[in-house]
Amino acid sequence: MQKGRIGVTTENIFPIIKKFLYSDHEIFLRELVSNAVDATQKLKTLASVGEFNGDLGDDTIRIAVDKKKKTVTVSDRGVGMTPDELDKYLNQIAFSSANDFLDKYKEQANAIIGHFGLGFYSSFMVAEKVEVVTRSWKEGEKAVKWTCDGSPEYQIEDAEREHTGTDVILHLDSESKEFLEESRIEELLRKYCKFLPVPVAFGKEKEWKKDKYVDTDRDKIINNTEPAWTRKPADLKDEDYLSFYRELYPAGDEPLFNIHLNVDYPFNLTGILYFPRIKSNLEIQKNKIQLYSNQVFVTDSVEGIVPEFLTLLHGVLDSPDIPLNVSRSYLQSDSNVKKISGHINKKVAERLGEIFKNNREDFEKKWDDLKLFIEYGMISDEKFYERAEKFALLKNTEGKYFTYEEYANIIKENQTDRNKTLVYLYANDRDSQFTYIEKARNRGYDVLMMDGQLDTHLINHLETKFKESRFVRVDADTVEKLIEKDEKTESRLNEDQQAVLREIFETQLRTGDHLTVITEAMSENDSPVVITRSEFMRRMKDMSALGGGMGFYGDLPDSYNLVVNTNHEKIGGLIEVFTSEMGEKIRKKDAAITAAGKELEEAENVVKDKKEEEKSQEEKDRIEETRKKLDKLQDKKREEIAKFASGQPVVKQLIDLALLANNMLKGEDLSKFVQRSISLL
Ligand code: ADP
Repeated sequence: MQKGRIGVTTENIFPIIKKFLYSDHEIFLRELVSNAVDATQKLKTLASVGEFNGDLGDDTIRIAVDKKKKTVTVSDRGVGMTPDELDKYLNQIAFSSANDFLDKYKEQANAIIGHFGLGFYSSFMVAEKVEVVTRSWKEGEKAVKWTCDGSPEYQIEDAEREHTGTDVILHLDSESKEFLEESRIEELLRKYCKFLPVPVAFGKEKEWKKDKYVDTDRDKIINNTEPAWTRKPADLKDEDYLSFYRELYPAGDEPLFNIHLNVDYPFNLTGILYFPRIKSNLEIQKNKIQLYSNQVFVTDSVEGIVPEFLTLLHGVLDSPDIPLNVSRSYLQSDSNVKKISGHINKKVAERLGEIFKNNREDFEKKWDDLKLFIEYGMISDEKFYERAEKFALLKNTEGKYFTYEEYANIIKENQTDRNKTLVYLYANDRDSQFTYIEKARNRGYDVLMMDGQLDTHLINHLETKFKESRFVRVDADTVEKLIEKDEKTESRLNEDQQAVLREIFETQLRTGDHLTVITEAMSENDSPVVITRSEFMRRMKDMSALGGGMGFYGDLPDSYNLVVNTNHEKIGGLIEVFTSEMGEKIRKKDAAITAAGKELEEAENVVKDKKEEEKSQEEKDRIEETRKKLDKLQDKKREEIAKFASGQPVVKQLIDLALLANNMLKGEDLSKFVQRSISLL
């Protein structure tokens, strides 16, 4: 028997290891199984180059739990170690790397997220004693056993072992009893070892016999040793990609398509990424990509490794070049990680472009499920925008798809306003904006359907990208004004009549409607009254609702315009009735108002150049009185108009119709409208 001290300076390293790695004790199993895989593959390599001529035998790595002895054992039939190697690898190298590790991270335990290649020594996070029984592949080497109980002292003695290979036996400490549960070990194996390249067995397959499950003699193999991403794309069919997807996400929807990544210069990267169908709920779709390093599972949170929008993809990335033992903030600045991320970005765009080019029909069919992903990428990633602008699509209200360039060409002729700005009309709710869409279309305009979760952002983004262009929602203005052209429709009503008209409608609004009445010369075939909502105000409110920091606008009441069409015959008729019934009265009132206005002007003129203290009381009183008189006259006039208006059910009816067309007539008002409609029939 040989006894010795391992090469560490710290008197007792294990308590420190335990303390440091408090959060991720479970990774010990990943580390031990990875070592077993390495050892097995080394032996295979030696055999393939003819150095090892013995029997490779069954290379399955076996994990066993013994509840009574409180042990977990990992056994392989790999290269094993000679006593010298044991001393070198376990006592010196491995230990010193553990030492280095601690030195490096002592000050910043919080920065360590938990993926470190502490390797073999992570055993001591869960074990109070570790035994390694190993026999080297080299001829004439005998088996030896190394034992270490957590102090820097170890011992090496002769042992028995039938085959070459290594058993690592962990005697679990009292705080790590959870790892004596088979279910816990199986859970960890399925998490970390699902795609290891050497078969990993944990117990036996069970079978239902008579009234209970019994072990068969078949090993229960945990892993798929040849996952799809490690195979050549040429050897894989669509079904293979699909079945691999199911292996990864048993409950997932079928993906749209996939990308098989295979890079070996200037970094190593393999993997398969899938485009999921995403209709909404961006957030919950994120972070499904699993990251592997040589087929060992590392993590399923890849933020920082791939651009934010790519975390929406599903699938697997495998790269030995991504440093795993460092913090995320470090990861983001790592040059390999940056290159990998840039590469994925490019590949994803290329693949999409390829499908668009080769099979546009299919691309269009999938667009609705894809668009959220693509738009997210375009908004958040400049590079991706540059690549995607060639294949990103716009969809119009007829369900036709166009590239950005195609669309601009189509609308150029008809939708350029008098300032040479190209106006993109859009709707985001087919039902509630139906009449507006129809009107625009009847004018020969095309209307885009922008009803996706990110479309508000996309519109803002596209406006910064497209030259001399702006987006306007179909209900932002009357169809005449959506795109202002040089030719103007003449109004049949003069300014005075229009002023009366506005008052007639104003007096019939309900408080709380927040409608501003305006008059406008539209086509006589257009509606008599329409409601519009300013593009600017609406966007500000939308942004504040999305949390864009526009709190001020968010607090304002909704503001809409009630636009009265001065050229509609109903409106013309209304003014005619008004003139014949009220004309005389109003003319008198107007004359009185004009006179009072003049009087006020004169009174104000007298004191125009005087300072406040130079004005006499008399002068001040005169102004005050005439102003009151004027107000009174105006009130009276308004009262008269209100009286007239309330006697004309057509006014309320027209307002309500416009509200109704906008889905804004509800409750009691709606029921009053119905009653009024019946009595008007
Ligand atoms: P790493 O695996 O990163 O090199 P470890 O601390 O896990 O670090 O292991 C140190 C060394 O011990 C390994 O490089 C290997 O040479 C040897 N070793 C560990 N486990 C085994 C094993 N199961 N079979 C053969 N050699 C092993």
